[in-house]
Amino acid sequence: MPTTKKHFSFEFFPPKTDAGADKLREVRKTLAVLKPEFFSVTYGAGGSTRDRSLGTVLEIQRDSGCAAAPHLSCIGDSKADLAELLTTYKNNGIRHIVALRGDLPSGMGMGSGEMAYASDLVRFIRDTTGDHFHIEIAAYPECHPQALNMDADIAHFVHKAKQGANSAITQYFFNADSYFHFVEKVQKAGVDIPVIPGIMPIINFTNLVRFSDACGAEIPRWIRRQIASYGDDAASAHRFGEEVVTGLCEQLLKGGAPGLHFYTMNQAEPTLALWRNLGLPR
Ligand code: FAD
Repeated sequence: MPTTKKHFSFEFFPPKTDAGADKLREVRKTLAVLKPEFFSVTYGAGGSTRDRSLGTVLEIQRDSGCAAAPHLSCIGDSKADLAELLTTYKNNGIRHIVALRGDLPSGMGMGSGEMAYASDLVRFIRDTTGDHFHIEIAAYPECHPQALNMDADIAHFVHKAKQGANSAITQYFFNADSYFHFVEKVQKAGVDIPVIPGIMPIINFTNLVRFSDACGAEIPRWIRRQIASYGDDAASAHRFGEEVVTGLCEQLLKGGAPGLHFYTMNQAEPTLALWRNLGLPR
């Protein structure tokens, strides 16, 4: 296995309140010590978090000592709005974009966007800004929930990568085999960009189950059963969740994954605990 430097990055969502913004400042100060490649910030499809995402991104880029990587989704936004955001990011020294289709909140239909898929957005970013941005795209080792089947989803991923993406970040998963299978399939199809596993710490299991059902990430039965067996014993459930995700990260890194992207849920401690357990450098 080549001994290239591993990629580590952390994801935040834009806070809704002043208190949330203050808390995120503390969280990012704590996590900045780990010197991630970037802090990414999610974007609500259809521009629903546009101002909050933009404000959070620019503050991180200006104050954190780490690069900010805005997420950008195309499904409900016009090309003119997206071009304006790209120009703002470029003018503020941002070099990374996570390019997505996005999911519109229910009731908003398919939106009024001019681009239907993330592959269109990747092409648009390349056409309008050349090589300025390092473009990350999303990958689904367990298959995107709306895809016809795994082969169709992989074909769409390959097409999206070929529009000019530099690397990919996966949806979270708890089964390392799905990741290695996905990487093997896309490499066979001629795409060799790094595919960074997205890691979800197990924090609030009830919320995780709800979110996983919506985004098509599978929580294996043995994990569900074990956590259920703890009942109200939150400390034991927490310990077990940390052990499971640490084991997953170890398996991925040992198997050659090029790094890890942590879904922090705007909390420092769960990611720090994984970092410590893995013996990663501080
Ligand atoms: P696409 O790559 O466009 O794929 C969407 C679906 O369309 C797939 O089923 C694919 O197989 C299919 N497809 C693609 N091309 C074609 C085609 N030509 N013909 C027919 N079918 C096609 N969402 C947000 O709203 N904001 C965020 O900030 C955000 N951040 C994310 C970060 C990561 C790392 C990940 C993994 C996901 C994130 N998401 C975010 C969720 C994401 O927007 C959803 O999963 C969305 O449903 C798909 O986005 P995509 O970019 O993967 O879409």
